[in-house]
Amino acid sequence: MRKILQVKNLKKYFPIRRGILQKQAGYVKAVDGVSFDVHRGETLGLVGESGCGKTTAGRCLMRLIEPTDGEVLFGEEQIDFCQLTQAELKPYRRRIQMIFQDPYSSLNPRMTVGDIVAEPLYVNQVSNRSETEDRVVNLLESVGLQKDDMRRYPHAFSGGQRQRIGIARALALRPELIIADEPVSSLDVSIQAQILNLLEELKEEFQLSYIFIAHDLSVVEHISDRIAVMYLGRIVETNLAHEVYHHPKHPYTEALISAVPMPDPEIQRGRKRIRLEGDVPDPSNPPLGCHFHPRCGYATDICSREELRLETTTSGSEVACHLHDELSLQGI
Ligand code: SF4
Repeated sequence: MRKILQVKNLKKYFPIRRGILQKQAGYVKAVDGVSFDVHRGETLGLVGESGCGKTTAGRCLMRLIEPTDGEVLFGEEQIDFCQLTQAELKPYRRRIQMIFQDPYSSLNPRMTVGDIVAEPLYVNQVSNRSETEDRVVNLLESVGLQKDDMRRYPHAFSGGQRQRIGIARALALRPELIIADEPVSSLDVSIQAQILNLLEELKEEFQLSYIFIAHDLSVVEHISDRIAVMYLGRIVETNLAHEVYHHPKHPYTEALISAVPMPDPEIQRGRKRIRLEGDVPDPSNPPLGCHFHPRCGYATDICSREELRLETTTSGSEVACHLHDELSLQGI
């Protein structure tokens, strides 16, 4: 399958400044050498706890935040976004769009829904006034809204409907890749399913690829073809969604999966919840060796001594764990 995006060794370090003179005193390594590919027509789920760097990584891909280092190669042309000026980047911005987490704050309350959805079309000068109106109506209908909704303001809509407006706006320029940053985490569970189903339908209709960022593995498994699990700024496991869910290879993935509730009470009773001790370590001073070792129930001496990188295992997954071949971990 052709690749639409190749991310290589992406880093984002935020400088820490202290004192009156604001002297630099180290870095917070929010994203620390992340690499992954996205194929055309694929949904890649990017998961991890809050603060693991997944949102920062997503924003670096679009240069909404400037990466510190790395390559972001887009399309068959393999244009490196990190090497372009903002002006050079503009034509590519049409091909990669973002859906934001909070449908309440991501829409301008003073603009009508029609103007919100039409704004990218005006800014990029892709259609005249009458064409724009037709396109906006089509977009609203594609996301389950109606023509009359064009003249209403965001406050008149529920959370799920506002997220539909955000999705319509993201689709306006006919992108090839959408980065969806926790698009359902602020919605009720019943509405979450509707939005996930809508995203699946739109993927077919608009021939999209997605990077789906979330902290909830149950949501990601539902929509993803492959999953990359992040911990403390690094990817610790990548595999097909089904494999990650049923046969995790990294202890951190196992802990995330153990927290996913099962609808069947019989199955739920037979499962062991793995509670991680302590908090996520300080990303400005990460532990030596495996960053996960202070919280890992399987850690041995080697874990705190030797650095790790993602390795391809015999089963085809990519894992950053010294003991990946020896552990037998609990899936679902
Ligand atoms: Fe746990 Fe060691 Fe594997 Fe890290 S390398 S996840 S500490 S077993």
